[in-house]
Amino acid sequence: MQKLKNYIHGQWVSSHATEYVDVINPASQEVLAQVSAGTVADVDAAVQSAEKAFATWRRIPAGKRIQYLFHLKRLLEENIDELSKTITLESGKTYAESKAEWIRAIENVENACGIPTLMQGDFSEDIAVGIDEYMIRQPVGVCACISPFNFPGMIPFWFLPYAIACGNTFIIKPSEKVPLTMARVMELVDQLNLPAGVINMVHGGKAIVDGMLEHPGIRAISFVGSSTVAKYVYAKGAANGKRVQAQGGAKNPVIILPDADLDMTSQIVVDSVYGCAGQRCLAASTIITVGEHARITESLVELSRKRSTGFGLDEGVQMGPVITAASKARVNSLVEKGVSEGGRLLLDGRNAKVPGFEKGNFIQPTIIEDIPLDGELAATEIFGPVMSLVHIKTIEDAIAYINNNKYGNMACVFTSSGLNARRFRNEADAGNIGINIGVAAPVAQFPFSGWKDSFFGDLHGQGKHGVEFFTQTKVVIERWLKEWTRKF
Ligand code: NAD
Repeated sequence: MQKLKNYIHGQWVSSHATEYVDVINPASQEVLAQVSAGTVADVDAAVQSAEKAFATWRRIPAGKRIQYLFHLKRLLEENIDELSKTITLESGKTYAESKAEWIRAIENVENACGIPTLMQGDFSEDIAVGIDEYMIRQPVGVCACISPFNFPGMIPFWFLPYAIACGNTFIIKPSEKVPLTMARVMELVDQLNLPAGVINMVHGGKAIVDGMLEHPGIRAISFVGSSTVAKYVYAKGAANGKRVQAQGGAKNPVIILPDADLDMTSQIVVDSVYGCAGQRCLAASTIITVGEHARITESLVELSRKRSTGFGLDEGVQMGPVITAASKARVNSLVEKGVSEGGRLLLDGRNAKVPGFEKGNFIQPTIIEDIPLDGELAATEIFGPVMSLVHIKTIEDAIAYINNNKYGNMACVFTSSGLNARRFRNEADAGNIGINIGVAAPVAQFPFSGWKDSFFGDLHGQGKHGVEFFTQTKVVIERWLKEWTRKF
């Protein structure tokens, strides 16, 4: 069985750990490889490499640094088919979903190629007679990224291209559940002929995360994962003097107003709830109808029932399994919880059977109606293919309910009224808003703007926020004209 190696200082090296865990195909339970649990010594080796590389990398002009990114973009595009299959094998999502992930990742590489302009500073001449003041942006040093299982390819690219284009060096820790994707990416990185140590990768779990949070050589940490771990990473990273951006979990509400286009709305909502088997931080979870709801309910149930579940590389499959057997058990028990709280099952996908993949972690589309809004299920991130359908009388009450939610990753409204849409945009307490959109995922030029318990920090991933996070400002006040100044 292949034991995955770390990529440090341009070399493939074994972990110092003795403990390894299986990487499992969630559709078949086949063991694909083994990944180390990681040790502090692995982190230290990566930091030493990245620190060494930083001294020279930061002096290479930005225009030259981005040439490596142009090359990386080409390599990602040339290998997109194989990279997508790797994501499907280890995460379970469909091939189309995996490919869409790479397109988003590549967009971030393209956007970071604008760093020579994006990281320009500001200049004010004569802030006093003969004195100029300016601000320049400099890289912060060694930066690290800790990523979750659900987007093994895209999420490291919310950070990596910006970090290195700005002159930092970088260490990636992929999720130990899906380490094969970034392992393949590192093989492509290896072809770039980057100076050794600019990009490193260490595998592992909590031991690596804690090692990174405590290592004095790491200056900035980008985290994406559940809110509990995001909060922990944010607090511990800050206590150790690091910059931290920590994106957390979600429970995304969608309001459907009576004037929404029925066909378009139900199709988009169903795609949002069940895409990636509901394992997206922007998956619609609580669907709130306002006013009459018989027709929309019928349409949502019909479309959900038709969705085909299976192995993500098989033709016609629209939804894969959830990531682990434990995840499946957790989602099933949350559905049970909803029922015990008084919810009614309109569709129950808990006994999913996929011929040829009997051991897979499959759950078919599930809809539970009328769960209590103050109950446990309504407040819990399910992260599985489950729609909670609730009915609220007015838009005011629906917005108030959303604003009571502890998460603030995304909120959407479906309507044909510009006035209601504007009001929703203005009043809803969430950082990513969809108006007749089911997955309001910002493109690379915009920050991925979670709020409340969905984000801990100040500067989000992607776009100009990425450039600010990966640079520190230096302000210079300068006088040269000593004799000349006296005349004034
Ligand atoms: P997770 O929090 O379990 O793991 C994320 C990372 O943290 C992994 O690399 C893991 O190794 C590490 N980790 C796990 N437990 C840890 C601990 N106790 N101490 C230190 N490190 C630990 O998350 P996941 O299950 O991989 O991903 C799913 C979660 O991520 C969901 O909650 C989802 O909403 C969230 N997510 C959020 C966004 C966003 O942009 N806000 C995007 C994708 C996923």
